[in-house]
Amino acid sequence: MARIVMKFGGTSVGDVERIKNVAQRVRREVEAGHEIAVVVSAMSGTTNQLVKWCSDVSRLYDAREYDVVVASGEQVTVGLLAMALQDIGINARSWLGWQIPFGTDGIHGKARIGKIETAELEKRFAQGQVAVVAGFQGIGPDDRITTLGRGGSDTSAVALAAALKADRCDIYTDVDGVYTTNPRIVSRARKIERITYEEMLELASQGAKVLEPRSVAMAMQHGVRVQVLSTFVDKPGTLVVDEDEIVEQQVVTGIAYSPDEAKITLVGVPDRPGVAGAIFGSLSDSAVNVDMIVQNVSQDGKTTDLTFTVGQADLDRATHVLDRLKAELSFGEVVADPNVCKISVVGVGMRSQPGVAKTMFQTLAEKGINIQVISTSEIKVSVLIGADYTELAVRALHTAYGLDADAEA
Ligand code: ASP
Ligand code: MG
Repeated sequence: MARIVMKFGGTSVGDVERIKNVAQRVRREVEAGHEIAVVVSAMSGTTNQLVKWCSDVSRLYDAREYDVVVASGEQVTVGLLAMALQDIGINARSWLGWQIPFGTDGIHGKARIGKIETAELEKRFAQGQVAVVAGFQGIGPDDRITTLGRGGSDTSAVALAAALKADRCDIYTDVDGVYTTNPRIVSRARKIERITYEEMLELASQGAKVLEPRSVAMAMQHGVRVQVLSTFVDKPGTLVVDEDEIVEQQVVTGIAYSPDEAKITLVGVPDRPGVAGAIFGSLSDSAVNVDMIVQNVSQDGKTTDLTFTVGQADLDRATHVLDRLKAELSFGEVVADPNVCKISVVGVGMRSQPGVAKTMFQTLAEKGINIQVISTSEIKVSVLIGADYTELAVRALHTAYGLDADAEA
């Protein structure tokens, strides 16, 4: 007997038929003798609609009330799934965040999980009951409803798996696993059988949509075995595991791309101590996340250009802050370019294998693609290129690193 947390995303519970299909999936695990907690998202599209209603009512809405509204999508799906399970003879009960309770901090709209009480669920497991738990929601220190941020139900599932010391956390979704890159743009992308937490975290953070980055960080921290698999097709998915569980190490495991970036260049920035601190300090104070940064050596010893990237959603706020600083720090111009894409190649094998960056740069050069900014970490090389070249670049790199699936015979 194993204890398994099964998580179903919005498309998997997108309508009543699909919820019944999920109930059948759950039944199979119950009949195999396992203890099951199911975490569900809202029906696909629901949370978007709820978010829109909030901003339609009030431009500067109260974050506490926003959470009350957006958490409601998951209330519908837990209730319906519990009913669907009961209907096929499975003992099941729904749980909202506050009922468990799923304790969080008080950062409404982006709450972090603290302590999860499991005593009651343990009791129910012992009675053979399936727990159907609302993802995405928790309860803050002031007893108000909180939500974990968009896509947060992956994190709910992993956190619950950690608290319940589950043997596995199965994330059911509309793709059948983690691929070497997005199969929608590279038809020869391959499904990865096993991937390390670190690689998965980098890929998710660099734009791969399959898992929410926070959930991967949490799985890594608590050693939760995560499997990503399809709700609709019955086959094994991708296991996210420790590095020592992976026998054959690829140099590059996957390629992610993020079109949601924007590039900012500050022209003629005075080359003296404290300027970078002032610029990035002000951006950080305005909650603008800065990613890649390059600064040139100054030609004349007086001024230099500074280029960096921010999320496209933060671009207006960033340029507003920078325009204000322009006079104070006496730099020339703020040039913004939202038409860029960040491409990242990721693999733990890079730690021991040289030449990964060289292959990337040469491959892009052969396609005539200009690299605007470069950044690296221990297991990742990222470049910023013009957005129009995204698909060309990802395809060429996928081939260059030997990731293409053999053509079907
Ligand atoms: N329903 C929430 C959202 O769409 C949480 C989730 O699905 O993960 O963001
Ligand atoms: Mg999701």
